[in-house]
Amino acid sequence: MTKELAKTYDPVAIEKKWYDFWEENGHFNAGINPDKPPYSIVIPPPNVTGELHMGHAIQHAIHDLVVRWKRMQGFETLCLPGTDHAGIATQMKVEQELLEVEGKNRYDLGRDAMLERIWQWKEKYGDAIYRQLRQLGASYDWRWERFTLDEEYVEAVLQAFEHFAEKGWIYRGTRMINWCPQCRTVISDLETEEREVSGHLWHIRYPAREGELQVVVATTRPETMLGDTGVAVHPNDDRWREAIGLQVELPLMDRAIPIVADEYADPELGSGAVKVTPAHDPNDYELGLRHDLAQIQVIGFDGVMTEAAGRFAGLDRYAAREAVVAALKAEGLLEKIEDHEHAVPHHDKCGTVVEPLPMEQWFMNMKEIAAKVRPVLVRQDIQYAPDRFRHYAIEWLDQIRDWALSRQIWWGHRIPAWYCTHCSADGLSVIGDLDREQALHEGNFRVSVAAGAKPVVSVAKPEACSECGGQDWVQDPDVLDTWFSSALWPFATLGWPQRRDALEYFYPTDLMITARDILYLWVLRMAMTSLEFVDQIPFKTVLVHPTILTQDGRRMSKSLGTGLNPLDLVARYGADATRYCLLAQAGAVQDVRFDAAVENNQVQASASAEAGRNFGNKLWNATRFVLMNIDGYEPGPCERSELADRWIWSRLQVAVREMTEAMQSYRFSDLTRAIYDFVWRDYCDWYLELAKVRLQGGDPQARRAVQEHLVRVLEIALRLLHPIMPFITETLWQALPHGSSANSIMVAAWPECDDELIDPEAEAQMQCLQEVVTGIRIIRGEMNVPPGRKVEVLISVASDEAEQTLRQANPYIALLTRAASVQVGQELVRPPASGSAMTATAEIFVPLEGLIDLDAERQRLKREIQKMDGLLKGLDAKLANDRFLTKAPPEIVAQERQRQAEYRATQEKLNASLKLVEA
Ligand SMILES: [Zn+2]
Ligand SMILES: [Zn+2]
Repeated sequence: MTKELAKTYDPVAIEKKWYDFWEENGHFNAGINPDKPPYSIVIPPPNVTGELHMGHAIQHAIHDLVVRWKRMQGFETLCLPGTDHAGIATQMKVEQELLEVEGKNRYDLGRDAMLERIWQWKEKYGDAIYRQLRQLGASYDWRWERFTLDEEYVEAVLQAFEHFAEKGWIYRGTRMINWCPQCRTVISDLETEEREVSGHLWHIRYPAREGELQVVVATTRPETMLGDTGVAVHPNDDRWREAIGLQVELPLMDRAIPIVADEYADPELGSGAVKVTPAHDPNDYELGLRHDLAQIQVIGFDGVMTEAAGRFAGLDRYAAREAVVAALKAEGLLEKIEDHEHAVPHHDKCGTVVEPLPMEQWFMNMKEIAAKVRPVLVRQDIQYAPDRFRHYAIEWLDQIRDWALSRQIWWGHRIPAWYCTHCSADGLSVIGDLDREQALHEGNFRVSVAAGAKPVVSVAKPEACSECGGQDWVQDPDVLDTWFSSALWPFATLGWPQRRDALEYFYPTDLMITARDILYLWVLRMAMTSLEFVDQIPFKTVLVHPTILTQDGRRMSKSLGTGLNPLDLVARYGADATRYCLLAQAGAVQDVRFDAAVENNQVQASASAEAGRNFGNKLWNATRFVLMNIDGYEPGPCERSELADRWIWSRLQVAVREMTEAMQSYRFSDLTRAIYDFVWRDYCDWYLELAKVRLQGGDPQARRAVQEHLVRVLEIALRLLHPIMPFITETLWQALPHGSSANSIMVAAWPECDDELIDPEAEAQMQCLQEVVTGIRIIRGEMNVPPGRKVEVLISVASDEAEQTLRQANPYIALLTRAASVQVGQELVRPPASGSAMTATAEIFVPLEGLIDLDAERQRLKREIQKMDGLLKGLDAKLANDRFLTKAPPEIVAQERQRQAEYRATQEKLNASLKLVEA
């Protein structure tokens, strides 16, 4: 018995039901299964604060596509989900809430109470992104879910830290770091975002200490001049050769600073002289080290000017900027002010301008561990798709820098380093007015660590100090960079260091699907730690998915109003259509301009998502048609003697082969194109139409035979489409009498190509038939034959082969073109007043006498020709106009040329048609 399908395709109505069904039936589950080959993916953990954006959406459309495909292929398929604690982002979120609701900051609450708050927040909101992934259809094994602050995971992180410290790779040192004065922590390069700012370039005169020397330097941050300790010029700059080694007066500070020669100074820019502020600029920091210039920090960690800023001390850095400019103006030292657009680093989480500052921090020397990865990439043990990213990765490894590990926040993995309160006394200071002894004893959060502290790295608190025998320890207040824990992700999620069984079975994982912005700081670090701890690569292939941009090529961002919530697409078009359209656009291009119109973060419409839904709709209606025509059908043998049957089975094999190959090489747009063409064009547009001959022909045996093909081919097509559009395919598959013992399409087998069924002869014959049908339809259209009117068709062929094919296809041609009769023969004579068309194998005639009112048709054609002449005249004049050609945007000109060509083609056709009816 067949099941009822709703009349119309309503994605929202079907999607929720199937997800629960799959999960309840354990279809996402994966375990150690010696009978099956494993296939594993760990997802890049989204932030626990995360909300699904389009980057996630395409990433997970691909994840789920691949895992569904592999599962259908018979692999024990694990897709392991998890989230990242996202140190700064999460703490900031809860801190904001704390401030808004209770007017308190984290220091008011204290470390332990603050952490408790964040855990509460995590329990309450932390699974939002999981729910969103489920809505997309993600078939992940949620029982394996991991979080970077899980107890076991923490152990892995601390053990890794201890290991690196023992190797001597981890050290404390002073380096230039990115500091967020708002969040009061170090942040990574990845968290700093260059934003275009319209500012100024202030040209300041530094008077000579001796002689006539005039130095003018330009800066976008005049407040930093207070910390200048030198001026640099290029050694080959003739203007300055004499000045090298002399001193100038630093205005406002009464300080003499030297002029040094350094190739960093660009002679092409301005006067060729640049100010050097080693404590406030990464390049100046390096330059200062080369020339032994002092580092004077005039901006504090709170963004307020320090004592070293003299009379400007205590001012906020921006107030100080105005005050410094005013003072320079008053002293007549401001040469000029220019408007200046430039990029300024901002903290991506809070939007504060980042302050580069030298600071003592934990660092990791990456040289040795990076050297392990290089040969692995060169040998292509880890493959990249596209491969060019492998080359970029090697370049990055060759220039690897030390990694700033510590962060001055609380939410994260606290650094397992301890200070003896006696031996490290010089380096430990207590912030605020707490009692020192008590603060140290309690290991209070207001202890800060600086030069002079002697850390002892140990996961557990050490017993007695080896220097003094003391037992009073204070733990390092900092936590690790979030990327330190995610660097262990692929193996720590599978049980390292405690458990081996899952690692032995599922490791290395098969595929890492990621965005390109974290290819180095994350993906390569995973490779490093995996080789170090597990002695294996973490994944066999790195797949870099495209970045989704707005339709005009901008970044998608909530703060810009260009943010597109993929769940809005899901609500409007369904998860299936959303997945389909994302995959359809994942071709060779790395930047996808997504075609949705978005206003104020709200999606208005998306043609590609709509196309996805229309595709679903077409498939839905085709399945309904089949279901309505298989009453009395029982599955039986499948005979393939008819041309149409041989052809559709051949087309199907080609689709299976193309799709399997596209899957293997991650060509997702080819994948969607192959299934679209097969379902829409071959199956719906042609085969269903051809099937009607036998369905309606009255021969029960022929009817049963065609039912068999309709059902079987459709069932295989559904399986092919399933990894792309899981919900609709499950719905339709359940409604079809599929004869499978599986209770879900997601555990049915991936179709295999049967080469025996590939039938070039049937394909060639069918092509001949299709061309003839198309030719007749064109004649009907061009000659304005009313759709209901039956036509007479004459087909003149040149070969016996074509004659035979078309004779056999006679009933099909008649049905598909509404022909009362179809006469096929060699060298037929063209009847008077008839429409005609040529194909590769035949010439087609449709006599028009009596079919249409020839006189009226002549009048109509003349009118159309006249209209077209008018349009073309205007367009020709426009395109001959130099003014238009030079002034109009090139795309408009191209568009007009295109129109001109189309009109011309139409005009020619109309003229040809007119000739016919005048004959
Ligand atoms: Zn910040
Ligand atoms: Zn000690």
